[in-house]
Amino acid sequence: MLAGEDSNDRKSLRILLEEFCPQMRGRLVEINDKVRLRDATQGTLSARVDVLAKKARARASRENAELACVFVHEDLDRIDGEMYITVRDRVQKALIDALGSAHYVLSVEEMEAWLLLFPDALAGMVSSWKVPAQYRNRDTGSIADPKKVLMRSVSKSGRPYRESDAPAVFGKAVALGCVHKPVGTNRSWNQLRTDASDCCQQHIPRMRRSS
Ligand SMILES: [Zn+2]
Repeated sequence: MLAGEDSNDRKSLRILLEEFCPQMRGRLVEINDKVRLRDATQGTLSARVDVLAKKARARASRENAELACVFVHEDLDRIDGEMYITVRDRVQKALIDALGSAHYVLSVEEMEAWLLLFPDALAGMVSSWKVPAQYRNRDTGSIADPKKVLMRSVSKSGRPYRESDAPAVFGKAVALGCVHKPVGTNRSWNQLRTDASDCCQQHIPRMRRSS
């Protein structure tokens, strides 16, 4: 199951998870409730996670499916730093406590920073889109406002980048195969790869055996 309040982010995550774990294809269900876990205080966090867990279970039972695992997405809305680890660990633990198996996908600074890892996919989407040298082959988690970089620098010529382009650019990265060869690094991207792979090995097969 996929949760996160932004539909473009959910679509993007679905494309990536289905690529990294083919067993998830056609089996991911989305819930689009407002998820505000990042800034919640400890008491509020458990309460919000409980609400999310209830909704996820209710949704699974409506779909007549077993709830194998939940991916929850939020943007950190700041560049990579100590805060990333603190927030991720805290929310991840709360999710595990409530759900058993879950992955908190916290993108730094936002999911658009991941797009900068795939210059070929951006150019594949609109041929004049180009990631300028200063944003290439670096830690894209350290780039402030990656959305603005995409709008102002990458899509300087050709039509401007729009937020709704993100899923299609990830789709392009999958189609071209470059999704497996990021240009540069991003700690939250590596974490997503780890989560997708752990989930695939530990959570999805378990569902298969019991179904
Ligand atoms: Zn999982």
